[in-house]
Amino acid sequence: MGLILITGGSRGIGAAIVKRAVADGHSVLFTYHSDRAAADRLVAACGGRAQATRCDVADPAQIAAAFAKVDAMGTLTGLVNNAGITGGFARVADLPIDTLRGVLATNVEGCFVAAQLAVRRMSTVRGGAGGSVVNLSSQAARLGGGGEWVHYAASKAAVDALTIGLAREVGREGIRVNAVSPGLIDTDIHATAGDPDRVHRMADGVPLGRPGAAAEVADAVAWLLSDRSSYVTGTIIPVSGGR
Ligand code: NAP
Repeated sequence: MGLILITGGSRGIGAAIVKRAVADGHSVLFTYHSDRAAADRLVAACGGRAQATRCDVADPAQIAAAFAKVDAMGTLTGLVNNAGITGGFARVADLPIDTLRGVLATNVEGCFVAAQLAVRRMSTVRGGAGGSVVNLSSQAARLGGGGEWVHYAASKAAVDALTIGLAREVGREGIRVNAVSPGLIDTDIHATAGDPDRVHRMADGVPLGRPGAAAEVADAVAWLLSDRSSYVTGTIIPVSGGR
């Protein structure tokens, strides 16, 4: 089995992806940003198959340091670009420029830098053995986030473009690049944005009638990391209950 780097693995969807990757037999290095205690609990729960390192994905030097830790563990076979923030709620007319820059630095620049460092290691034309990159997008990229967070939606639309374009660049280099696009998933991200009841209040608008669980997103990511999706690249898979 492989060695997977997962950003933002300490909580929510990322933590579910870490648990699933370990259950699938992978070794994992995951990053956390601020919640060291959550990261430590997850490392303990993974029984030595996962390690954690602090990394702000908005800082390219910190991403490079995380990759150096991966290199010390073995040969990288997969990257999950999961770390992401919403920046909170704001109408476009009132959006502070620092909020926009912070969201783009974390959600877009972070994904780009991690993807390029992964490609340099995994590309068969650079001496690598190939691999799989999975980006966490959002249905907001399609819905637009109007009245809530157009800045966040736009950042995830950029993740979709990175996914499609990079897949075309590196398909002949042994690397598949895909995205999972969650809908309303029950994690802390909504409370962090200032609306803890958001997913339950909006569940009526979901054809399956409920918010999703982080583990349901992790299942799709695990499939994209595995050889069972060997002919799948450049796709964006909704995990959204039909919304
Ligand atoms: P979450 O519960 O808020 O967890 C966010 C994770 O990202 C945490 O592990 C956090 O680390 C880490 N993180 C935050 N800022 C970071 C930074 N600057 N550098 C590195 N790590 C950082 O979020 P989630 O709901 O699991 O979301 C995970 C991904 O799915 C995100 O990309 C999000 O946009 C996407 N998504 C979520 C939903 C949803 O409804 N939940 C829907 C669509 C897409 P700490 O624990 O250290 O703070």
